[in-house]
Amino acid sequence: MDDCIFCKIISKSIPAEIVYEDDLCLAFKDINPTAPVHLLIVPKTHIESIMDIDESNINDISHILKIIPILAKKFDINNNGFRIINNCGIDAGQTVKHIHFHLLGGRKFGWPAG
Ligand code: AMP
Ligand code: ZN
Repeated sequence: MDDCIFCKIISKSIPAEIVYEDDLCLAFKDINPTAPVHLLIVPKTHIESIMDIDESNINDISHILKIIPILAKKFDINNNGFRIINNCGIDAGQTVKHIHFHLLGGRKFGWPAG
């Protein structure tokens, strides 16, 4: 996707602080962090949102779930806990239309979500 900022990060045409990469996904630091650890984990394939998950791409998403605990350990947020957030669509405040999972840790989080 030519106009997708996360596809550009994946193709390395714009920089990001990449912390993990494999064949299926990329993780990088959020440019505007809201917690001491704030990573974004994205599939390398362009999927707009959770509404676009189907049989053809579910493996890319389940793979990310497997990578999350590895990143939580790597960033030492596994003991006290962390939060995974996916914003889907307008009401949730999704600003980048390439599905991404926020991995937040290093502080306490409130509930219910704002
Ligand atoms: P969302 O509101 O769930 O769509 O989250 C998009 C996230 O992407 C926000 O937390 C932004 O700070 C982050 N973001 C936008 N552009 C970049 C970028 N170039 N590098 C890293 N993070 C970015
Ligand atoms: Zn994209």
